[in-house]
Amino acid sequence: NVGSDAANIETRAVETATGWKVNGRKLYISLGPVCELGVVFVQTQRKSGERGVSCLLFERVMAGFSSSTIPKMGMLSCPLGELLFEDVEVPAENLIGAEGKGFSLAKKYLNIGRCVVAFSALGIAEAAYEAAVKYAGERVQFGRPIGGFQLVQQMIADMMTLVETSRLLCYRAADALDRSAPDSQMLCSMAKRYATDAVLRVAEMSMQVHGGAGYTALFPVERYYRDARHLSIAEGTNQIQSLLMAQSVLGISALK
Ligand SMILES: Cc1cc2nc3c(=O)[nH]c(=O)nc-3n(C[C@H](O)[C@H](O)[C@H](O)COP(=O)(O)OP(=O)(O)OC[C@H]3O[C@@H](n4cnc5c(N)ncnc54)[C@H](O)[C@@H]3O)c2cc1C
Repeated sequence: NVGSDAANIETRAVETATGWKVNGRKLYISLGPVCELGVVFVQTQRKSGERGVSCLLFERVMAGFSSSTIPKMGMLSCPLGELLFEDVEVPAENLIGAEGKGFSLAKKYLNIGRCVVAFSALGIAEAAYEAAVKYAGERVQFGRPIGGFQLVQQMIADMMTLVETSRLLCYRAADALDRSAPDSQMLCSMAKRYATDAVLRVAEMSMQVHGGAGYTALFPVERYYRDARHLSIAEGTNQIQSLLMAQSVLGISALK
């Protein structure tokens, strides 16, 4: 439920003789309704804020665990859910990393996740752009392909530029991660923010190039838009990416 305020996780784990007793709920979890196994970040009782966050492996079969499906706009192949933990007993050996070190673990993988999200956005943007080029060459109006109209050509040029700038930032972020470069976190945030905003503009323009056809489910572009829409929200909203990027140069956090 805490969303952007990730360090203040509400789900609690209390230490028991055999491990941890977990109570809480997690909203908007990808594949939550179908997972057999999962990792859950919890606040232990001993410390608060990010120093109290630990990471546990749980199984669907554990007593007290349940999940429900949340209906949504796109990405229909990937169900979204709410997870409920009611006195779920997790054995001690299911602790991943050290107790209280869960937040630094999460930050490391969030960084990789943001790079992956940026590439997902790039892939959808490429597909939307290619669909627009194909349609512009095929659809005839006023006796010629619509790709012959300068206003359509401008949309194609804008889409090309957005795709290529996204690609360059994605490659820079991936390269920085490969090298464990000190600016890799900033570059992942930049690529994630840019590519996930860009894909919406590309999908929107592709729909415009398609005219009425683009709004129908008979062509793929309306799905590209729906599938891309969550990318600027998930894995840290684009507003949070802006704050992280600015913090990396200013040395001042807007989140504390
Ligand atoms: C399709 C989808 C899949 C997801 N999958 C997962 C998953 O598998 N696992 C998981 O843990 N989470 C998952 N999430 C959750 C996702 O990470 C959160 O939705 C996201 O971090 C935003 O949190 P929130 O929804 O609570 O929004 P909020 O935090 O309530 O934010 C609402 C708005 O306020 C803005 N805002 C909040 N705080 C600030 C601030 N300090 N400064 C400026 N603006 C701010 C946000 O940018 C946003 O615009 C998923 C979400 C979606 C939509």
